[in-house]
Amino acid sequence: MELPSLMQTLRLFGRAAILRCPNCGGGPVLKHWLKLRVRCGSCGLRLERGEHDYFVGSLMLNYVITGTLVLVTMAVLLVAMWPEVPWDLFQYGGPVAMLVLPFAFFPFTKLIWLAFDLMLRPMNDEEMEWHRTADSEWSTERTLSQ
Ligand SMILES: [Zn+2]
Repeated sequence: MELPSLMQTLRLFGRAAILRCPNCGGGPVLKHWLKLRVRCGSCGLRLERGEHDYFVGSLMLNYVITGTLVLVTMAVLLVAMWPEVPWDLFQYGGPVAMLVLPFAFFPFTKLIWLAFDLMLRPMNDEEMEWHRTADSEWSTERTLSQ
């Protein structure tokens, strides 16, 4: 296994972080905020990977990012506002943030997960050709409805 260079890795994750295709930097990649297109509109990379559990890792990543952000924010607020801590804000704001932020981060973490996959398993020309020519209507969505 050959790992990409630091610049290639930063490029993959940087593209994902701005909601672009990690492979080419193009797009569009989103069908809507909670759904990726079947393939990248620019390079043809299949964004739907054909495995129902492919993006389970992105969900885990989403909760780790959300939990870390909420905990760090609460810790900073606690220290900054001590001893006049707005406990009601913590009591209600924390759980609300834990429910809302995963939706805000959803497409980012899916594309970051895809970037992580491309970092570990870079596309070769043969695989890219398969991505471009495979049945364009195929998706996990269609498979689930059958
Ligand atoms: Zn692309």
